[in-house]
Amino acid sequence: MRSCVESDRWGLLGVDTDTGDEAREEIEHVSFCRICNAACGVRITTRGERVLQVRGDRDHPLSRGYTCPKGRALPAFHHDPRRLDHPLLRRRGSLVRVGWPYAIGDLATRLGEILVDAGPSSVAYYMGTAVAFDTCGYWATQAFFEALDTPQKYTCATLDTPAKLLVSELMSGFAGLHPIPDIAGCRMLLLIGTNPVVSHGHLSGFTNPVANLRKMARQGDVWVVDPRRTATALGATRHLAIRPGSDAFLLAFLVRELLTEGADRDYLAAHADGLDSLRSAVAPFDLDRTVGATGLSAEEILDLLAAIRRHRRLVALSGTGTTMSAAANVSEWLLWALQIVTGSFERPGGAWFNPGFVNRLDRVEQWQHEEGHVEPGPASRPELPRRRGEYPCAGLIDEIEAGNVRALFVPGGNPIAAFPETDRTIEAFRRLEVLVVGDVLENEIVDLATHVWPCTGQLERADLSGVMEFYRLAVIGQLARPIVPPVAERRPIWWCFDQLAERMGLQIRPPGFRGELEAGSDESLLSILSGGRLDLSSLSTAKMLDDPPVGWVEGNLLRGGRWRLAPEALVEQLRTLQPAPERVLIPGRQLRTMNSALRDVSAEGERQDVALIHLAPEEAERMGVSEGDRVRVRSAAGELVGKARLDECMGTGAVWIPHGWLDPNVCRLTSTKQEVDPLTGMVLQSGVAVEVELEPW
Ligand code: SF4
Repeated sequence: MRSCVESDRWGLLGVDTDTGDEAREEIEHVSFCRICNAACGVRITTRGERVLQVRGDRDHPLSRGYTCPKGRALPAFHHDPRRLDHPLLRRRGSLVRVGWPYAIGDLATRLGEILVDAGPSSVAYYMGTAVAFDTCGYWATQAFFEALDTPQKYTCATLDTPAKLLVSELMSGFAGLHPIPDIAGCRMLLLIGTNPVVSHGHLSGFTNPVANLRKMARQGDVWVVDPRRTATALGATRHLAIRPGSDAFLLAFLVRELLTEGADRDYLAAHADGLDSLRSAVAPFDLDRTVGATGLSAEEILDLLAAIRRHRRLVALSGTGTTMSAAANVSEWLLWALQIVTGSFERPGGAWFNPGFVNRLDRVEQWQHEEGHVEPGPASRPELPRRRGEYPCAGLIDEIEAGNVRALFVPGGNPIAAFPETDRTIEAFRRLEVLVVGDVLENEIVDLATHVWPCTGQLERADLSGVMEFYRLAVIGQLARPIVPPVAERRPIWWCFDQLAERMGLQIRPPGFRGELEAGSDESLLSILSGGRLDLSSLSTAKMLDDPPVGWVEGNLLRGGRWRLAPEALVEQLRTLQPAPERVLIPGRQLRTMNSALRDVSAEGERQDVALIHLAPEEAERMGVSEGDRVRVRSAAGELVGKARLDECMGTGAVWIPHGWLDPNVCRLTSTKQEVDPLTGMVLQSGVAVEVELEPW
């Protein structure tokens, strides 16, 4: 077998796939996986155009040989018979195959008519997770809609992450910070509502989770606070099975007590404003109240407090268990407050902030601070907050129903598996005059499309570790080159938008880019997008900074070098914090799926995930439910039916249903109107009150 660090630069035009691969020799390519933000280094074996195997790259400085089942499923995903190969257009109710010039021309004409009739705000996009791992596709989507000058921008960031962006913005003046553990020095890691062994982090990429968690546990303590005894909890120093939806009570108590004993007073004097307001805000959260709200014993709570005091510094990370709940904002705020009060940010053993390898935020000379600026939501939902130029997804369906949005682009996302009120979402999408879906695989959103763009998968295009780089465990840069040429008429998303823009007379190409679909065009676009600062050819193997820059947030980003400890809006949300209902829904990820992707694809010999309704066995028994029974789950917003799984790892009062599935689709239990966070417009999906009953046959 030949080894190939610098893969050939494949031409980007479609090829005849009958290439007699059997006669060819095997080649091993060095690359990195872009299914999730862990960005594991991989070795990919091909023979001709056949992708044979993906395995971990032991020489990769960050992942060191680790891969998860999703990464190893890439060959099966690439060769999946449901891959989209040709542009499709809906005619008389059916999708029919057309050529690219016709597909782009028809779309340009129909969009042009809508724009003349209703203006730019009648055209919207929804960007899902997949496009966040496609640097050029992400750029092109943004550039096209900037050129169109429409405010109708919706992304998955408002579905499960807005609390993290909001807290970062309100406390630092910049929404893009995310605490990264100093793994080599961390002696106290607190994980709340997150299960990185399975999810590989939330927003952040928690690469090689078991090895990294073991290392931190050997150095000190890893505490997991989660209603479920998750895979992460099983290996932790200590697991607290908290009542679902009550994390903020525990965190408020910890901050309150640490302000009395355990705070880093020198750090607070030098780097924090709002200490008195924070102290007042958490004052009502005494031990009795915390015990009552969390269901934890006083001993458990005090043990956690003692562990933090003993280690003095800590890293505290959250996941969808908290970030999709009613207390998302206050929980995230208190996690940050905990780390600031203990002087843990940008100090050895605490958390640091990744400035990115490509973007190098530590070299920004003059920061333009974001001040938590809020604008009204879209016309049909003005009460929803528009932040950072983006409307919450909760408003999109209303906008379609009101006739305000008539054309929608969905590059790399699946709103049917991610938006609340599934039936209403499907009906709204059916009403659209234009629904453009750019995807790699047939799925339920493709079924509704008027125009389908068959897109290149990650093995068919070049990419750089850019868009999500601030959320990685290391400052690392790597170029992934195309491993195989695109099959049939698959095209990169950037090219689709570029062609459409050209037909519509819009200019989106950056200076110096010709927009030709030819060998190396992805790479030249990446070079331009990275400001020409990087020698991309030197990044065909990963480059990682051994000593990441630390101190740039305090030294340069923060106004006067000071955190804002008590943003008013968050203080007010904490003041009105309510205990969680008795039985609630908690969401979660699975090991073998990435949201709705890879639901039914796996590497050879590996199994697939299934979506079941997980219940605590003793609670199930009281309901008369046995393993495998069909149960009905109801919330105020809707209901679903699925098979019960009696799960010894479940805490009482919690009903766990993984998201990203159609049956059961957990989004049926959520609503765009009844349970929406007022500060971010996020639809609540964690801590939602539910009832469960046995479904009669
Ligand atoms: S954790 Fe899995 S999906 Fe994520 S980058 Fe690594 S191999 Fe890919």
